[in-house]
Order: sequence, then structure tokens, then C-alpha cells
Amino acid sequence: MNEHDSERLAGLLVSEGMVPAEDDASADVVIFNTCTIRENADLKLYSALGHLKAEKVRRPDMQIAVGGCMAQKDRGQILERAGWVDVVFGTHNLASAPALLRRAAAEGPLVDVWDAPDPEAARDMAPALYAVRELPWAAWMTIQTGCDNTCAYCIVPSVRGEEISRPLDDLVAEGTMLAKSGVTEITVLGQNVNSYGRDITKRRPLFADLLRALGEIEGIERIRFTSPHPKDLGPETIAAMAETAAVCPQLHLPLQSGSDKVLSAMRRGYNSARYLSRLADARARIDDLHVTTDLIVGFPGETEKDFEESLAVVAEADFDSAYTFIFSPREGTRAADMVDDFVADEVIADRFRRLKEVLDRSALRHHVAREGRREEVLVEGPSRRNDQMISGRTRQGKLIHFPITDVSARPGALVHVEVTHGAPYHLLGELVSVERGPRHKVRLPLLRS
Ligand code: SF4
Repeated sequence: MNEHDSERLAGLLVSEGMVPAEDDASADVVIFNTCTIRENADLKLYSALGHLKAEKVRRPDMQIAVGGCMAQKDRGQILERAGWVDVVFGTHNLASAPALLRRAAAEGPLVDVWDAPDPEAARDMAPALYAVRELPWAAWMTIQTGCDNTCAYCIVPSVRGEEISRPLDDLVAEGTMLAKSGVTEITVLGQNVNSYGRDITKRRPLFADLLRALGEIEGIERIRFTSPHPKDLGPETIAAMAETAAVCPQLHLPLQSGSDKVLSAMRRGYNSARYLSRLADARARIDDLHVTTDLIVGFPGETEKDFEESLAVVAEADFDSAYTFIFSPREGTRAADMVDDFVADEVIADRFRRLKEVLDRSALRHHVAREGRREEVLVEGPSRRNDQMISGRTRQGKLIHFPITDVSARPGALVHVEVTHGAPYHLLGELVSVERGPRHKVRLPLLRS
């Protein structure tokens, strides 16, 4: 969500006539789009701002802005700690960033952070249309902002506000526009995608309808989404996934803990049995489903027994991979006040290591099981570690590398690759055939005489 917000910000700046700078030192405008999910976000921000201070002294017309979740949370403190910042804006008024920069150039430093979202602005599709995307054939699509849940460890509801869904017709129009520009893959974004549309209809969520409608758009071949909430993953979403050819067989279903006691303290709204049963329903309906999750180790009050229950659920769920996090208190959340129940660092470190071992084993098992299979791969470009290899993603979202044997396997092309080796975090393969070339338009640099 944060990265997509950065793309939208970049798009807004480009639409104002700005161009990307070579580096920070030559930029006329630097915007930090901050996140508060991880620990030490403030240390990183103030250290980065500190590095820019001398540049700002040297070039006073250079503008520095801070936006995003940390700006929303710490609005007043930023100018106090870094008086050389020109603009502070929050999560709810990202689209006003260019106007705020213009105002600050005329009037001096300013802080403009809205306490709550303006529903009209949150539903506006214009900033998404301007987005400068990293991959021209793949796009993110934000379908809702905010979250109405109250997970005890999470800062998101207080910095992103209540859930606001964008109109379904606007999303389909955006998908159609993306397809016309050559985008073939859309990743749908929301804090709790399954509840998309509840604020629009007041009757039932519209997420399954949205998946089906996006699946109808000509040219959109792959649809992914993140994240569904396990308590809200209903049969209608599973059916839409199973019955819409463009929806990829990939489900990121955040478990967080396998202990019912910890899940209740986290206020997640499901227990381990319910989670496993919904996962079993999804696997029964969707062929070859790739399942990933999020897990927090060391939530306040987590005992050895709770942790062992988590390990047992993780083993039963048989995840393809997982994002694992060590609990870190976020100021202003319920869990941050459970100081008496905080788990010792060395205990957490040991549990984290044991959990990673179980997850790495299952990741490897899933990848080895794919050896000899033929995968449909969307090419991303040369491998970052070896420029003789090409990297891409399978329909399940798995990273695969294969040697360059056909120059038509260009970024954005759809190819078939036979898997020759499964490693814990990637697959290796051999190119079998190129199904089609890239669909996006390639902009050629202007040649000056
Ligand atoms: S569902 Fe829970 S973890 Fe996810 S954004 Fe909402 S409050 Fe945070």
C-alpha cells in the first residue's frame, strides 16, 4: 500500500511537469513517504533527513516533504526535530502534496495533516491514474483505504482511518484503462479486501463481484490480491477465485498466531480451527493453490505452550512461505500497554529461529515438488544476481530464474518454463516456449541532434 502510494505521489509530481532526479543530491524536491509498521521507522527517517540537512543549507530552494503514516502520527514533532523540512502531510491528503509544495515555496514551512479521510478524496481515482509504475505490465489497484478492525498490535486503523471503498465501476474503469495501456497483471490492494464494498452497499461485501468484474476485462491475464482477513474469507470469494480464470491460484492469509489464547488477545476474530477450515475450503476449490501467511512471534503473554500450538498449526497449514515478524510495540496500540506480559528478547529469538526452520522446510518441500512441471511465467527482466539469467513469476507468484536462450523472452512477455530445481526461496528452470511478447508500449528515448 505504501509503495503504491509512492507511485501515486511520483505520478502527481510528473503531472506537474517534474522529472525523476538522478540522485538525492541533485533533486529539487525530495519526499519521504513513511511507514510505521516496522520498528525504527523514526530512526531511519531522522537519519535520512539529517543527511539532507547540509544539502538544504547549500540549496535553500530545494524542498523536502514528509508524508505517510509516520507523518500522520507524529505530525507536530517532525518540524521540531528537523526544522529544514518544508512540508508535512498525512495519509489522507496525499493528493494535495504538489499543491502543498507550491504553497510552502511561497509561504514557508507548513504542516497539513487531516485527522480523518475525506470520503470523496479517498474514492477519487485520479491519483491512481497518474501513478508512475515500476513495471509497465503490472499495476497495483487500491480498492479501499483504512480498516475497521481492532487488532491489538496494529497501528493502521489510527493512521489510515476507517474503511472507505472505492466504487466498483471506477475500479473496473481503471482496470480497463490499465489493460489498454498494456498492463496484463493487477494486484488488488486493501487492508481487508474481503470487506470491500460493505460501506457502499450496507448489505454485503462486493469483493467477489469485483474479482469477477476485473476478470472480464480483456487483456488482464493475472489478478492477485492482498490481504484477505481470515475471519471474512467467505465461500463467495473462494468461488470467485475458482471460477475466474484470470485470478491467480495464490492466497495470502495472515494467521499471526496458531494459539487460540493469543489470537483472542490479538483480537483477530477467529481461532485456529476456523482458520484451518477456511484454508481447507479454499484448497478444495482452487487447484494448485499457493498459500502464504504472516506470523508474529512473541506477542505479549505468548508462552512456550502457545508457541508450540503455533508450530502445530503452521505444520498443518503447510504454507508455501511466510512473512515472520518479531513483535514490536507500536505506541498507541492496545498491545503496547501489555508491558507486564512482554516476552524476553532471547526467548523470542529462539522461537523465531525454530519457526523459520519449520517454514523453510515446508517452502523447500513445495518447491522441490514442482521440479519437472511446466510453469506459465510472466518475464520481469534480467536476474539481479546473474545477468545471464532471466527472472519472472509463475501464476502462483513464485520467483523463477532461467537462462537466456531466446531474445523474445523480453520483460512483460508470457513464456513457458520447465522447472529443473526447487530452492527454498526460488525456482530454477529452462525456457520451453514463448507464448506471447510484451503488450505494454515501450517509450523510446528522444534523440537530440
Ligand atoms: S485487519 Fe488488523 S492487522 Fe490488518 S490492518 Fe486492520 S487492524 Fe491492522
